[in-house]
Amino acid sequence: MERPAPVAVFGGTFDPIHFGHLRVAWEVSEQLDCEVRLMPSAQPPHRSAPGGSAADRAAMIEMALAGQGRLRLDRRELERTGPSYSVDTLLELREELGPDRPLIFVLGADAFRALPAWHRWQELTGLAHLVAMTRPRQRLDKLEPDLHNAMAGRWTGLVERLRGEPAGRVMVIRVTPLAISSSLIRASLAEGRLPRYLLPQPVLDHIQARGLYR
Ligand code: ATP
Repeated sequence: MERPAPVAVFGGTFDPIHFGHLRVAWEVSEQLDCEVRLMPSAQPPHRSAPGGSAADRAAMIEMALAGQGRLRLDRRELERTGPSYSVDTLLELREELGPDRPLIFVLGADAFRALPAWHRWQELTGLAHLVAMTRPRQRLDKLEPDLHNAMAGRWTGLVERLRGEPAGRVMVIRVTPLAISSSLIRASLAEGRLPRYLLPQPVLDHIQARGLYR
């Protein structure tokens, strides 16, 4: 019997969402041939509070996703109180999806490298596959020893491996390099410049109408 299609989740602060996030999520969705859920965190454990409220960040994601069917917004971390630990989110998703459905946790190269700082990070591969997307100026080799050891024997280059097992594999997906970041966009707004063409125009309109990141 064929396994049901994987579910991929892509977490982040999305403060604000930009074409870097959107393009790589789209490419991952095409390469894995599955839905990708963009999942904004309420209270990211490793960084200062977002400049945009949960409601604004979710609204901007919804605007950015209009008109397509591969990417969608998942609000579960916004609806939970306390810090948004990925391990809790994956436990919740695993509970919903059952033990057999492939679950894929998608991260940019910088987030992947930083995994050993995350709460109960060693449990993540028991719950999901990890997909690390390439990102300009972020390497995916020379990982710190704990991460290197935890990933040993899990690497695969085959999408079929991810589709054929519920969790436990690690894969690198090469995506179009776009050196766009939310911090670059926030800095540009704070300096009174306009970050046009780095993010969808309706998102920029929303930022301006609400006076965000000034
Ligand atoms: P900030 O500049 O505020 O740190 P960011 O642009 O890195 O924000 P996040 O919301 O922190 O965005 O990122 C969510 C996820 O998206 C992370 O896993 C990050 O690595 C990935 N990501 C963000 N921008 C890109 C990009 N241009 N290319 C590839 N991955 C990206």
